[in-house]
Amino acid sequence: MTSLPTDAADDAPYCTVCGSPRLVERFLGHRRCEACGTTRWRNPLPVAEAVIVRDGRILLIRRGDVERSPGTWTVPGGFIGLGETPPAAAAREASEETGVNVRILGLVAPPRHLSTPDGRGHVLLSFLAVTEDEPRPAHEVAEVRWCAPDEVPWAALAFPTTEALLRGLVARSADPHRFPDDAPDVATAEIPSGRAPQPRPRFCPHCGGPLVASAVGVWQCARCASWHYENPRATAGLLALRDGRVLLGRRRPDVTGAGRWAGPSGHAEPGEAPEETAMRELFEETGVRAVAERLAGVFWDGDHFEIVYAGPAVDGDAAASHRPEFTEIEWFDRASLPPAGALHHSAAYTTAWLVRQGLVR
Ligand SMILES: [Zn+2]
Ligand SMILES: [Zn+2]
Repeated sequence: MTSLPTDAADDAPYCTVCGSPRLVERFLGHRRCEACGTTRWRNPLPVAEAVIVRDGRILLIRRGDVERSPGTWTVPGGFIGLGETPPAAAAREASEETGVNVRILGLVAPPRHLSTPDGRGHVLLSFLAVTEDEPRPAHEVAEVRWCAPDEVPWAALAFPTTEALLRGLVARSADPHRFPDDAPDVATAEIPSGRAPQPRPRFCPHCGGPLVASAVGVWQCARCASWHYENPRATAGLLALRDGRVLLGRRRPDVTGAGRWAGPSGHAEPGEAPEETAMRELFEETGVRAVAERLAGVFWDGDHFEIVYAGPAVDGDAAASHRPEFTEIEWFDRASLPPAGALHHSAAYTTAWLVRQGLVR
């Protein structure tokens, strides 16, 4: 990741959708426009990384003269722009930073959370990639290097999330002297989120002037020349397991996926790790507490992505919904699972994964 957190618009005075200065503080720093009703959410910013593998080595980049952690090592990556899918962002960052075209093979590690000084935090999605091209440093990158585990400059890695990523890869490799070249079995798919699309910004948050689209997720003000960035929003959910059964809820008749069964899921709040979001949403929507033990899948479109975990229920009865997201809540075993057509959004993929893993029997 070579870019800085660039969304300095959190406290800027103008609504980016209608240009009004009538913004009022809601909770946790989210701000609502009284003129058009749009909320400017202050969610964790999404980052996509490319773990490019060749012959047991991965491609590391040394950060150039950047503001945050200059001269340290990490993998290519950067912010996902609004309208861009996470794997497309990983491929674009690899190309911008090392000049290679990559083929994305799948998600290579569980998502990670990186704390940031503004309290918003980043959510990192890392993808396994291969390339036929020879990398060279580009953009804000000072040096590129293929590294086996023994060759990684462990003391000079850029972020705690970089070290967690690389240690996790070594831990699941059959040979500790080589990085693995396969992706773990998790469900992934590009599917419409079913949530309302994010409005595209039209007005500068700093001066109210007109914005002009520049690149994916990037706009510039035609009046004051400041840059403006928008990103997909992260959501997370947790499938609670008990005695080989999974907890699903039936969606209210007046929401998307009406009458179909889904796992609890919701938006990440500022500073929240995706596992925390997942556990909080499960409890709020079902009254059950569970541990976000394993990654089941990640699903995306250009406006949202959803991270789904599975783990054992530890407490609570699935009797009452604390928030009326669902009209019914039920535990399903393999024989009683609703058919794919009665499942909403990612639930068809994740319940198939649970059966495949033997977690639902
Ligand atoms: Zn507005
Ligand atoms: Zn402006």
